[in-house]
Amino acid sequence: MEMYETLGKVGEGSYGTVMKCKHKDTGQIVAIKIFYEKPEKSVNKIAAREIKFLKQFHHENLVNLIEVFRQKRKIHLVFEFIDHTVLDELQHYCHGLESKRLRKYLFQILRAIEYLHNNNIIHRDIKPENILVSQSGITKLCDFGFARTLAAPGDVYTDYVATRWYRAPELVLKDTSYGKPVDIWALGCMIIEMATGNPYLPSSSDLDLLHKIVLKVGNLTPHLQSIFSKSPIFTGVVLPQVQHPKSPRKKYPKLNGLLADIVHACLQIDPAERISSTDLLHHEYFTRDGFIEKFIPELRAKILQEAKVNSFIKPKENFKENGFKKDERKIIYTDTLLSTSVWGKEMEKEKKPKDIKVRVIKVKGGKGAILEPKKTQCEGRHCQQDAAEIAHTRLVISEPPNPVNPSTNSLGIKDDPHAGGSMMMPPINLTSSNLMASNPSSNLSHSNSRTRWRRVCLMSEQVKVTKWQMETKGS
Ligand code: ADP
Repeated sequence: MEMYETLGKVGEGSYGTVMKCKHKDTGQIVAIKIFYEKPEKSVNKIAAREIKFLKQFHHENLVNLIEVFRQKRKIHLVFEFIDHTVLDELQHYCHGLESKRLRKYLFQILRAIEYLHNNNIIHRDIKPENILVSQSGITKLCDFGFARTLAAPGDVYTDYVATRWYRAPELVLKDTSYGKPVDIWALGCMIIEMATGNPYLPSSSDLDLLHKIVLKVGNLTPHLQSIFSKSPIFTGVVLPQVQHPKSPRKKYPKLNGLLADIVHACLQIDPAERISSTDLLHHEYFTRDGFIEKFIPELRAKILQEAKVNSFIKPKENFKENGFKKDERKIIYTDTLLSTSVWGKEMEKEKKPKDIKVRVIKVKGGKGAILEPKKTQCEGRHCQQDAAEIAHTRLVISEPPNPVNPSTNSLGIKDDPHAGGSMMMPPINLTSSNLMASNPSSNLSHSNSRTRWRRVCLMSEQVKVTKWQMETKGS
C-alpha cells in the first residue's frame, strides 16, 4: 500500500472498502479493494473466490485485476480504476438511461455474461452497482465474490447471500439446483431498472420479494410452489394467484417493445424457460438497424484507446494488429471482440483449458519499498504503516516465462483446486426475521452507502425529486 497514494473512497461493501489510489511511481490510477479483517472466515473465502476468478478469466467487459497483496492481515485487490457504475448513472438519470446508451451498455454486459456462462461460471450478483462504466462508455462487470463454477449434475450449491432484489425465485426458495438462469433473472430486473430508473422488485424480506414476483412477474411453477408449501419459513402463507397479460408489451408497458420482449424472456419464473445469454445477444433488440456491425468497431476502437492510456493493458501485447485479442493466458473459452458467435464466428468450445500462467513474485517490502515506517492518510484516518512489517507478495498477471503453480496464490490462501466447488458460501440465515425485515437493505450483502441512499430515494418520489433538483441546482 505504501506504493500507492490514497485519493478517496469509491465504494463500501459488506466485505471491504474500495479506495481510489495512485501508484506513486507510474501515476497509474487504480481501485484498491481492501477486505475487512473480520473474525469470520467468510471474508477470506469471498476474497479468495474473487481472486481465483479474476486470475482465470479475462475479457474486455470484465474488470482487470492488477495485483494482490496482503498488508496488516488485510487482503488488498488492486484493480484498474473505472470511472463510475451504472448505479451512479441511475442516480443521475432518475428516469432511466437514454435508449441508445442503454443498448450499448446491455450489449457489453451480455458479452461479459455470455463469456462467463460459456465458461460455466455463474456470477450470482448481477446488479447496477457491479457494472462499472469507463469514461468512454465501456462497461465492465465487477465483484466476483459470489461467482462460482456451475455444479455438476446432482451436485448442490451451498446457500449464499446475494442482493435480494435481483434474486431469482429458485434462489429465494433455496432450490439448490439453480444455475446460469439466476444471472439472466438478475439481468432482467436490472434492465427494467436501467430503462426506468426504478428497481423492479425492491423488497424487504424474502416473502415480500416472492409476493412481488407473483404480482408483477408470474405465478410459481408447481415445483417452486411445492418447495414454498413445504418450507417452514412460509408456513401458513398463501401466495395469490394472478392473471398476467400474455403479451410482454402489455406486461411491461413502460418499456420499448423489443426491450419488453427481452425482459419477458429473462423474467420467466421457470428457470428452464429463461433465455440464454447467447440467444439474448442474437435478439432483434441488438440485431436491428445494423447495431452490432456499427457498434463492434466503435467498441474495439474505444478499448484500444483506453488500452493506450492504461499502460498495464499493453495493447501491443494483448491485441493483434486487426484488433483481435491475442490472449496467451486465455482459459477455457475466449469471447473477445471478434471471436464471439454474435458476429458469426464459430465458438471455440472444443478448445481445451490452458494452464493459467501466473507469475508470482514474492517481494519483501516490495520493489522500491520504503523501509521506514510511513503514515498514510486514509479517509481522515491515519493508518500507521510499517513497511518493514509488510510481507508484500505481489501477484502479477502477465505472460510468464516460467509459470508457478497457480493453485497457491500470493496470499498464502490456497486456491481451491476444484474450481470453487468446495468453497462454501455463508448460509442464508433462515430465521423468521428474514420474512419481515423492516429495513429494506437489511439483508443486502452488498449494500454500500450509495446503494442505501438510493433505495431510500427510490422508495419515495418526493425524495427523488428533491435529490434531482438539488443535483441540477448544484451543477
Ligand atoms: P464489495 O464486494 O465489497 O461490494 P465491489 O467489488 O462490489 O465490493 O465494489 C464496491 C464498489 O466499489 C462498486 O460498486 C464500485 O462503486 C466501486 N468499485 C469497485 N471496483 C472498482 C473499480 N475497479 N474502479 C472503480 N470503482 C470500483
